[in-house]
Amino acid sequence: MNLLIMGPPGAGKGTQAANIVKEYNIPHISTGDMFRAAIKSGTELGKEAKRYMDQGDLVPDSVTCGIVKERLSKDDCKQGFLLDGFPRTVAQAESLEQILEDLDMNINTVINIKVDNNLLINRLVKRRICKDCGATYHLDFNPPKEEGICDVCGGDLYQRKDDNPETVENRLDVYAKQTKPLLDFYREKDLIQNINGEQDIDKVFSDIKSILKGIN
Ligand SMILES: [Zn+2]
Repeated sequence: MNLLIMGPPGAGKGTQAANIVKEYNIPHISTGDMFRAAIKSGTELGKEAKRYMDQGDLVPDSVTCGIVKERLSKDDCKQGFLLDGFPRTVAQAESLEQILEDLDMNINTVINIKVDNNLLINRLVKRRICKDCGATYHLDFNPPKEEGICDVCGGDLYQRKDDNPETVENRLDVYAKQTKPLLDFYREKDLIQNINGEQDIDKVFSDIKSILKGIN
């Protein structure tokens, strides 16, 4: 089961990605984790990526795609994988096609979690995070028992600086512009499965499971 997951900030992509990898026992391949692992294990590509990052530069696609290929070649990907955060552009998606062809693999499904922008703005603006344990709350739907205090660990809750209405709208615009060509790319290949991310978390996951039924 070779999957790709997409969704705007605040759509619950992280939660669903965690559910999917647990349910199907496949590795979660996120760009950040992949870079950290490559750098830690000191591969040539890891070293190269680190050089760019240390200088504050973007890691070029050639290096990123090399790291993706190394990761997908590992044994734990033989039964499937969930790619998260890659590809971000059509150029990367085309490179991924080549990588998969080389490895005799293909993407089965692109899970696209959809949530209306106004709802995302509400979710993000009213989000509060524990500075100690990272637990997240929503002031209306999942408020802490005591205002400003984490239920789990008693830590102080804070609002992320970029969780204000203007910045959130801007982030959503950027996301929409960046991903539209990518969604078109996978739509043409008939791989997109849209999931209604406006439902509660369990219902979103049961929708994902019904879509994945029949995929090996
Ligand atoms: Zn906490």
